[in-house]
Amino acid sequence: MVQSTFAARLRDAMEAKGLKQVDLLRIAAADGFKLGKSQVSQYVSGKTQPRAETLAYLARALDVDESWLAGTGDKGQVLPQPQQTDVKTTEREGAMRTFTKSSKLDHVSYDVRGPVVDEANRLEEMGVHILKLNIGNPAPFGFRTPDEVVQDMASQLKDCEGYSDSRGLFAARKAIMQYDQIKGIPNVSMSDIYTGNGVSELINLLTQAMVNTGDEILVPSPDYPLWTACVTLAGGVAVHYMCDEQAGWMPDLDDIRSKITSNTKAIVIINPNNPTGALYPKELLEQIVEICRQHQLIIVADEIYDRLVMDGQEHVSIASLAPDLFCVTMNGLSKSHMIAGYRIGWMSLSGNKRIARDLIEGINILSNMRLCSNVPAQSIVQTALGGHQSVKGYVRDGGRIRQQRDFVYERLSAIEGVSVVKPTAAFYIFPRLDPDRFNIQDDDQFALDLLREKRVLVVGGKGFNYMTPGYFRIVYLPRRAVLGEALDKLEDFLSTYRQ
Ligand code: PLP
Repeated sequence: MVQSTFAARLRDAMEAKGLKQVDLLRIAAADGFKLGKSQVSQYVSGKTQPRAETLAYLARALDVDESWLAGTGDKGQVLPQPQQTDVKTTEREGAMRTFTKSSKLDHVSYDVRGPVVDEANRLEEMGVHILKLNIGNPAPFGFRTPDEVVQDMASQLKDCEGYSDSRGLFAARKAIMQYDQIKGIPNVSMSDIYTGNGVSELINLLTQAMVNTGDEILVPSPDYPLWTACVTLAGGVAVHYMCDEQAGWMPDLDDIRSKITSNTKAIVIINPNNPTGALYPKELLEQIVEICRQHQLIIVADEIYDRLVMDGQEHVSIASLAPDLFCVTMNGLSKSHMIAGYRIGWMSLSGNKRIARDLIEGINILSNMRLCSNVPAQSIVQTALGGHQSVKGYVRDGGRIRQQRDFVYERLSAIEGVSVVKPTAAFYIFPRLDPDRFNIQDDDQFALDLLREKRVLVVGGKGFNYMTPGYFRIVYLPRRAVLGEALDKLEDFLSTYRQ
């Protein structure tokens, strides 16, 4: 196990050189290296860890061995200590202009690909094999795109050279409209559908169109962190409502009610949920709709996992229960059709669109500004949404995702000090580490320690805006043998780990 934290080693190295944070910033500026004040203070306080490039720079600037600073030296190895050299920092202060990121990004984070992943990449570059349970990207785990989808894209490629209508190809939107009809989403016409380069682009587009500075948007905790990031980037405040672990990770209605103010504009519902794998029942959705009705809120539903539902359950679109409210429903093919790399998602506006005329104008402006989404990917929407749905084979009894879900759930439940809610949908599981046993104070540190000691990569709960420490997410897409190896390592790690 790692004996000292990165923050402690950084402080030691700075002290050895007689440098304060401000000195380090000056040196970096003089070297033309981008290093922000808040970055350094977060590293020193142990809140975050630097990316590989920054770590390499810090090691150079502080004259210490990079692997010592990273803490990746072998157990028991005598690690190089910071050298005592006398640098006159003022000599390095130059007149060189440096460029920092925009202040809009000050509070924006997306830790699913954050510093722990940087560390994993760095280890991989050194030739270390990492078991990656961190990203919901089906293709690398042998989930192949249906052949028909690939062939259809290939045969249409020559017709996809130009921009499409900014909302998307007619055939793609028609298929999406029909899909919405099947899901009972009311009042969706062709002009209410916007294709995007994945749902990700549309989350950004919608929040930019909808959120004014200071607007409050209710976002679940834990969440898929892009929602919090985009609301923040748009100048709004992501107000997190709790999803209750004791209630199978269902949204806590009282908590939602208690967090509504005169500034609340919309609520984001991620159903099925990432990272918990929870599927919300119709009755609960009806109650959420009722709250939105009372407070005149926009309903924004992220339903990208709606076809990855297990145990014979069925997904209900919240927009189908709210014909009198303005709803935006997002969906796509990244997960259900295993084509995350093709980048195709969509959003459908439904229900009472009259009350959102001006907002829709804003959405149109932004949609036009990006010209259109990736046209080859749009060209296969019709094929993908119609006919045989190969995803069903993965989630039915005996299907690969279902088997892996059961395996991971059983293995995790059997580890002392770990408790976990069985997920019903998607391919994520969000276990809890007993605070009395493990005393987890810092999820990132846990993920880093696990990575460095066992070469297993997970994302800590904090990365999903879940502020109670001691949770982490596992993506159970890898095959059983790989999952088994990772869980053996996790179990061994947890048998001695304490924070
Ligand atoms: N929404 C949720 C809940 C997700 O988990 C993800 C990806 O993991 C996305 C949206 C982004 O999907 P896309 O690939 O369509 O951008």
